[in-house]
Amino acid sequence: MKRRLYLILLFAAVTLSGMAQNVGEAFYIYRNDGEFNAFFRDEVQSIDYSYEDADGNTYDEIVTQIVTTADSVYRIPIAAIDSLSFVQPETVFQSNVIQMEQKGLSAYLQAIDGMALLFDTSIPQSLQPKVGDILLSTDFGSSLLPDGFVGKVVSTQIQAGTFRVECEMVSDIFAIFEQLVSIEQIRDRNNSAPGLHRISDEWISNRNPINFYNLGYSHPLSDGQASLSSSIDGSYIATVAYNITRKEQHITLRFNHDWQYGAHLNFKSDAGFGTFKGPVVSLPAIRFPAVAPVFKFQVSGVPFAKGEGNMELDFSLNSPVHSYLTEVAYHNGHFSGGTNELPVQGANNPSIDAAFSLNGSLQIGYMVDFWLGIDIFGSLFKLGTGLDFYIGPKLTGDFSMKLGTGSPVNYYSTYKDSKLGLSLVTIDYEFFGEAALAGHTTPRGMFCDGTIQTPLYHEWYILPEFSELSVEKDADNKKATISTTPTRDILVPLNVGMGLYDKDGNHLNSTNYETQKYKRENEGYRISQTFISLETNKDYTAKPMIKILDGEVPALPEETFKLEGESTCPDANHPHMIDLGLPSGTKWACCNVGASAPEGYGNYYTWGETQPKSVYNWDTYQYGSSGDNVVNIGSDIAGTQYDAATANWGVPWRMPSKAQIQELLNNCSSTWTTQNGVNGRKFTGPNGGTIFLPAAGSRWGDELGSLGSWGDYWSSTLNEGNPNYAYGLGFDSDGAYCYDYGRNYGHSVRPVR
Ligand SMILES: [Zn+2]
Repeated sequence: MKRRLYLILLFAAVTLSGMAQNVGEAFYIYRNDGEFNAFFRDEVQSIDYSYEDADGNTYDEIVTQIVTTADSVYRIPIAAIDSLSFVQPETVFQSNVIQMEQKGLSAYLQAIDGMALLFDTSIPQSLQPKVGDILLSTDFGSSLLPDGFVGKVVSTQIQAGTFRVECEMVSDIFAIFEQLVSIEQIRDRNNSAPGLHRISDEWISNRNPINFYNLGYSHPLSDGQASLSSSIDGSYIATVAYNITRKEQHITLRFNHDWQYGAHLNFKSDAGFGTFKGPVVSLPAIRFPAVAPVFKFQVSGVPFAKGEGNMELDFSLNSPVHSYLTEVAYHNGHFSGGTNELPVQGANNPSIDAAFSLNGSLQIGYMVDFWLGIDIFGSLFKLGTGLDFYIGPKLTGDFSMKLGTGSPVNYYSTYKDSKLGLSLVTIDYEFFGEAALAGHTTPRGMFCDGTIQTPLYHEWYILPEFSELSVEKDADNKKATISTTPTRDILVPLNVGMGLYDKDGNHLNSTNYETQKYKRENEGYRISQTFISLETNKDYTAKPMIKILDGEVPALPEETFKLEGESTCPDANHPHMIDLGLPSGTKWACCNVGASAPEGYGNYYTWGETQPKSVYNWDTYQYGSSGDNVVNIGSDIAGTQYDAATANWGVPWRMPSKAQIQELLNNCSSTWTTQNGVNGRKFTGPNGGTIFLPAAGSRWGDELGSLGSWGDYWSSTLNEGNPNYAYGLGFDSDGAYCYDYGRNYGHSVRPVR
């Protein structure tokens, strides 16, 4: 343990306080647990120690070394650290390896014939390859061996004026290297980060931030026209660490990459256009190690566009920047790794402009492939990993903007859920690898796959949805205020308002539309409209309205309401109009004509007279001198000059008809009761509303009879079969009935309206 602690202290001292002159810019951690770490000194932000292990257990001594870099945190168990090195290990080739360029062989190379190399016969004896030599060419720009070469010499001969060297494929990387330990980093030249790390040799990416691909695509369709253009831009930093010896084969790749996509689509089609795939585009390969670049890392992509359904659209997108860290590790035949999205610094907003009619989906994007492996002269070795990204915005839609010819309500129901969905970037990835290194073959396998979810999904509907309508009723002033809040984001701003319908579906009130159109929810938009001159106790239906072109479309939800009158006296300012909830909508007054309170007896009137008097008989009756000689003043005097209610209280008060009295008897329960010391019957309507009719008795001659035990109330209806009689309401403690009475009696009048 002392040795390890010493290592840690040395580690910290050297990396944090600066390097001695003889120490390289990188350091290496050799481990006994199958891992290998290598860092550039200036990429390390901090080095800490912890008493906790990876599982969270705490110990009395330091057990974990924590190395933090800009994009990762490495927790290295102290016990796993075999040794540390701050010196760039020498790359050791096998003794029989001949590097053709360095040794000068390339100058004599004349031609290639499969695995045979043909040299000029003037090649000096000292340079002539011998059987068993390994020839290695890494001059990838050369015309003869653009992909490099590695081969083991099996025979040599002079033939047809050339020195022919027959080779066989090399199947073991250790035929080339005895030891290969290094860390290298390749980044864009324009990247503002500190300079390129390359342990030896000079190598600089000659690409600026990648303009990876511009797709210009115009495609005539049998029934439409498509024009697509898009671009993908990005930048990357690749860091590769490797530790390849007979004992350990370890390669770690970290690839920081960020991407931005732009697309412009102008498209009209009735049938979609299937899938279009552009040509494969590869970035120049990164080859490493610098000393003998046999490994290759390459990014390539295929642009694709796919459309189906009917659509007409004009769409522009510039996505935000997406940044990822892809890590691939190979150790003795096993792969591990994955991809994570990294946070992006600063404002990172997409821009979109769109106009659509879409019924189907349209996706445009790139399939991006990462490949890490050994690739010299036709993939002599196999060590490959692939990471395929399917990247791009995807539009899905299901609507058309055609106005229906059917019923407007059906129009709303049919189209209200039509929407457009836009996922700015969907990234599906598949991560796989295969390897044959040092004789160990790993069959190709999928490590992981999945979808990187981006929060950039949004939906637009063509029609808004509305919250439950709120109805604020004002029966006294015969008005109602209806309010609702539109929800959903909609594609095209629309005028929205409120409409009023009667029971039969007739549109009653014109709708007020605001000048400002509704487009987005959560902007405090609220529709509120007051309808006036309504009638009480009548069904009305309010509906949100949407103005589309010159038409109005009623929407949902609708709300049916009724202005109900008072069901009891609200105050002492009698008379009041009481709503008993009667089917005809008839409202009864709370008190009698001549009374100032519900229990007041009020005045007594003969049928047709509008003033009370002191003596009630045929002599004093204005409309007849006897039962056989009555004046015809109409079979129903309601609302006429003979109506005591109208005459005393004014229009629209009137005497109840016989039918209205029967409606009262049929629809209300009544009980004999005492109110403020006055006997009478209380009638309770279907809605719970009540009126009290005092047992006011009746007048005949100059007498007032049955006071407190009987109530007699006129109707406006004549008994036409016996015209000296008219109908009325009579009640006592046993019940209430419809009677007819002699017209010259003095009875109470309880108005209705
Ligand atoms: Zn009242």
